Formats: sequence, structure tokens, C-alpha cells
Amino acid sequence: MSKRVPYQLVSRSWKPEPTTFTVNGVEIGKELMMIAGPCAVENEEQIFTITEFLSKLNIKFLRGGAYKPRTSPYSFQGLKSEGLKLMRRAADKFGMAVVTEIMSIDKIDELVQYADILQVGTRNMQNYPLLRALGKINKPVLLKRGMSNTIEEWLLAAEYILSGGNSKIILCERGIRTFETATRNTLDISAVPIAKSLSHLPIIIDPSQGTGARDMIIPMSRAGIAAGADGLIIEVHNQPEEALSDGDQSLYLDQFQEMLDPLSKMANVLNKSFDFQAVVSPIENN
Ligand code: PEP
Ligand code: MN
Repeated sequence: MSKRVPYQLVSRSWKPEPTTFTVNGVEIGKELMMIAGPCAVENEEQIFTITEFLSKLNIKFLRGGAYKPRTSPYSFQGLKSEGLKLMRRAADKFGMAVVTEIMSIDKIDELVQYADILQVGTRNMQNYPLLRALGKINKPVLLKRGMSNTIEEWLLAAEYILSGGNSKIILCERGIRTFETATRNTLDISAVPIAKSLSHLPIIIDPSQGTGARDMIIPMSRAGIAAGADGLIIEVHNQPEEALSDGDQSLYLDQFQEMLDPLSKMANVLNKSFDFQAVVSPIENN
């Protein structure tokens, strides 16, 4: 007999078949999704350069923060409304969907106008009024795991959204706090098979916040897919040295391009395929 769990709607026992839903032509939960882009939208040239590059690789989801939750109040806080508008224009021009963070309830009306998927950051996983409000919107929610939260607490956070009526939820493991200091966070790859066995919701891996270091993004992306994740969210930047946030963990554009082919071969071995494989468009030929 399976153990009694405190959540219901998000559980496998409630709904044995995996949850899938389609955004920008990608059946999330079935195809592997790749979300890529800068940590933050910084200016028009930056976001258009990155978006154009990603679109040529057939990447379907553009990430980028406009409202940024920064540990220090003196750090770059994001371009806010201007950032949302720039990102939407870039995404529309190059046929991509927008994934961006929602920090507070009062920004929901604005965010639903510009974003295709609303990200709840690690610092807000237990913002229960926000989670309840996101249960009432008609847009998917990418729910990061709180950096100090258990898998059970994370699934209960998802239950807040689902019990409000919104079942389009993507779980995202982004690393947790441990005693280890060699990495920014400890990316809990074991959360993937655990969450998969407990819940029907799709789960993706964020190796960027998860490690904090560019050199670890490729191996940890592979590890996430090998563990059964439904996709990845990765920070990339055209000039990581100049980035206004998270430059050290952002891949160079050519590095990102080079990681795709081995990753998709790995996925194929597991009988899965990435959303970007649908059309092969080598960037040199465009
Ligand atoms: C981010 O994706 O840039 C971010 C701030 O994520 P997290 O909430 O996981 O720290
Ligand atoms: Mn970041």
C-alpha cells in the first residue's frame, strides 16, 4: 500500500497519467522542453541578439527576468515593464514563447499580458496568497522548488495552485541549500525520480541556479535528462562578462549551441525527443 500523502490533486494516486499541455506547439510533459535565455532582460540589443540566436537553433521558449528578486536591494532589479515589453517584442519577432518571473500578486494582470509561462521563483515558493492567485489564471506556472524546502512542501505549494483550478504546472528543481560551498546550491537530481513517482506534473531542471558555475551546466543538464526530467531551463548570454546578473553561470552562445546535439542524442537513447529537434536549422546556414 502506498504511503498517505498530505496533497491530493497533484498526486499520482489521484491522477496516474502524466499531465501534459501545449505551449507554442510543444506538448510539455511529453516532449522535452528547452527554455533558454538570459537571467535578466537588460536592453534591446541584448535580448534581440540572444532571441535571434536561440530561434535559429529552433528553441521554443525564451527565459528572462524583468522583475528580478535579488538578494541585495542594491543589485540590478530588472527593467520591469520595459523589460516585459522588450522580451515580448523579441519573442514575437522570432516565434518564441516568454517565460518570466512573477514576484507579487499586484503584477499578475501585467504579466499575463506579456508572458506565456509565469515563473514562481525559489524565494516565493511559499508565498501562499500568490500561489492561490495563480490558481485562478489561465497561464501555465513554472514552480521552482524553494531553496530550503522539502519535496513534500514543494508539492503542497503546487497543490495551492492546482486546487484553485489551474492544472498547468511545471515543477522546477533549481538546487537547495546544503553544507556544501563548492557550488552555489546543491542540485538535487534525485528530486526528479522522486517527484515523478509522487506526482503526475512535469518536472524540469535548472542547472544554472543549481550550480552557479558555467562549467557545470552541461554535465548537470545531461544528468537531469538521464534522471528523467521533462526539460531544462538554462541561462545563456551574448556577453556573460558584462551581464547584470548571473554572468558566471551563463553559457556563451556557442557553448549552448554545442551542447544541443549530444543532449538530443542522449534523449533519443531514452526514447524521448527535445522540442528543438522538430526542425534542423544549423545556424551557419541562416
Ligand atoms: C532565475 O531563474 O534567474 C532565478 C532568480 O531563479 P531562482 O528563483 O531559482 O533563484
Ligand atoms: Mn538567474
